[in-house]
Amino acid sequence: MSTILEQSLGHAPVTELKNVGAKFAEKLAKLGIHNVQDLLFHVPLRYQDRTRITPIGGLRPNVDVVIEGEIMLADVVFGKRRSLAVRLQDGTGTITLRFYHFSGAQKNNLQKGARIRCYGEVRRGRAGLELYHPEYQFVDDVSALPTEKTLTPIYPSTEGITQARWRQLMSQVVTLLQKGRAIDDLIPSKLLLPYQLPNLRSALLYLHQPPVGANLQELENHQHPAQKRLIMEELLAHNLSLLKMRASIQLDHAPVLPASNTLKTSFLASLPFTPTNAQQRVVNEIQQDLSKGFPMLRLVQGDVGSGKTLVAALAALSALEQGFQVALMAPTEILAEQHLKNFQTWFEPLGISMAWLAGKVKGKARQTTMAAIVSGEAQMVIGTHALFQDDVAFANLGLAIIDEQHRFGVHQRLALRQKGKGLSPHQLIMTATPIPRTLAMSAYADLDTSVIDELPPGRTPVNTVALDQSRRQQVIERIRHACVEGRQAYWVCTLIEESEALEAQAAEVTAQELQTALPELNIALIHGRLKPKEKADIMAAFKSGETQLLVATTVIEVGVDVPNASLMIIENPERLGLAQLHQLRGRVGRGSAASHCLLMYQSPLSQAGKQRIQAMRDTTDGFKIAEIDLDIRGPGEVLGTKQTGLMQMRIADLQRDSHLLDDIKHWAQLTQTHAPHIVELLIARWLGENIRYGQV
Ligand code: ADP
Ligand code: MG
Repeated sequence: MSTILEQSLGHAPVTELKNVGAKFAEKLAKLGIHNVQDLLFHVPLRYQDRTRITPIGGLRPNVDVVIEGEIMLADVVFGKRRSLAVRLQDGTGTITLRFYHFSGAQKNNLQKGARIRCYGEVRRGRAGLELYHPEYQFVDDVSALPTEKTLTPIYPSTEGITQARWRQLMSQVVTLLQKGRAIDDLIPSKLLLPYQLPNLRSALLYLHQPPVGANLQELENHQHPAQKRLIMEELLAHNLSLLKMRASIQLDHAPVLPASNTLKTSFLASLPFTPTNAQQRVVNEIQQDLSKGFPMLRLVQGDVGSGKTLVAALAALSALEQGFQVALMAPTEILAEQHLKNFQTWFEPLGISMAWLAGKVKGKARQTTMAAIVSGEAQMVIGTHALFQDDVAFANLGLAIIDEQHRFGVHQRLALRQKGKGLSPHQLIMTATPIPRTLAMSAYADLDTSVIDELPPGRTPVNTVALDQSRRQQVIERIRHACVEGRQAYWVCTLIEESEALEAQAAEVTAQELQTALPELNIALIHGRLKPKEKADIMAAFKSGETQLLVATTVIEVGVDVPNASLMIIENPERLGLAQLHQLRGRVGRGSAASHCLLMYQSPLSQAGKQRIQAMRDTTDGFKIAEIDLDIRGPGEVLGTKQTGLMQMRIADLQRDSHLLDDIKHWAQLTQTHAPHIVELLIARWLGENIRYGQV
């Protein structure tokens, strides 16, 4: 212990503390706790008030209390379940303590006449008010046992670490903190002042040992200034780390790409439409970045159908015209195929050579493609994640376009730099679905953002209706009617299992059933198990109008574009997430006819299922839907980072604390200009373990 008291302690390993051996340290490590500082940031989940003893006569149900009294009676009761019932009295009233699990020793000790102090939650039980399995201590002399002087913290824990152990451990750390030796306050007081936030030491002391009278409600809601102090620091650290990443990438040189003229002119002339004002504006924003000589880092957001692909194509032409390669990565093979088809139609007439690379491309085909990419013969390369694997080398990659479903990781973004050979490629990220502003601000703080806030003309809003499976027959009639009138429809089958094979099978059964019910219609089936050629043929027949009803699995979620299709039935929509439902619905409403989306659900709906369906009925605005999705699912799920732990935070919660994000942006600017020396320290403190800056 003496060594630990003589040096800066925050980084001292936990094993330097009393009673912490290698084995216990291992358990702590599982919670991400390695040193004293980590322990300090392991703040309580909630608190108990054990500072007052409540008279038994004044107890109310569902409240945590400390009571003290004398045992009148202790008895093993045989009911439905055997239990030990102990009757306790304190002169104001009596209460029963009930133990379903008890040892012989326990039974012997809890004898008539003994005085005990208990802690537990009051419940209504068999014999009136009861405490189930309370914590208890024997009190020999009434005044012998002092009550707690602070609120009792309850720490987030893991198997094999009791709350008593936590308290014992934390009391050591708090002692160090009180001596002012455990941690440095990195945030200058100038920054804290306007927010009236405490310094780090007082904040931590308060949270580990809140004084009697502390506002439990406020603490539980994470609204206390001491909590806000830590939350803001953590959010700041994350924000700074993203800005650091950005700065580091932008130190690289990138090709200078002036606006493409020749290619762009012929391309636009070949299109059956002109770009919307919003598309034009975003293209200009991109173009400015491309001409700067350091890597662009730009996120393009736009609702389903807003025409992000066209924007990507125009950006690609700027690179292609200067003789640089372009890579376009999509999250799924189906979406990548759709892009390939689009770009082939658009670019091949311009004499641009295309290449296709996905995980399924193997053997000889793969070698040929890789050779074309490394020689530069392939100018525009489209594919899945396979594109950015280590063994794929480019001749001169100038622009990487990422159509992402889930957040493209920081590491992946860094790895992209290696693909440019001397020059770092520009990076254009397009989100498959809109991201709520608050999330974009924090999770994508390293990117500039452009928003396509306008849909191409001629779209009609989709009318969305929810109905129960029992009305299936009516729905089928509705399809008959629409198709007789010359319109086309989608029937989307959903399945819980993540198995393409099972999903395909279920869709097949549905297609047969519908064909029997609607013999006069041309019905086709499409699913992910078909070969690309088969899929293309089926889609072509639907696009030409020959097929009237297309039964599909969720493969049509992306990329399908048939303006004459104005009716969509989604079976069991409750199985899908909001973003996915919104993507699916985006397949209709592309033509001038009024479009309908029927959500045919299976009762009873779960709470979340109800919320999602309600949201779909309420709005067709993808940004609003994204906000609701965030409310229902939380940021980890929405960003798809839950598993990767990329945005995992210790105290802050992006959703709960989103109201602080504007301030954080401001703080980050102030920190960079007035206290640049703390940037690294903050990042190391809060993210040190999670992000490896290997290449920075
Ligand atoms: P998303 O933003 O969902 O990726 P897409 O890029 O797939 O949308 O575009 C949706 C559809 O809108 C496509 O059929 C595309 O050709 C068409 N489109 C794009 N821009 C325009 C425009 N300016 N005018 C008319 N149609 C457009
Ligand atoms: Mg798209």
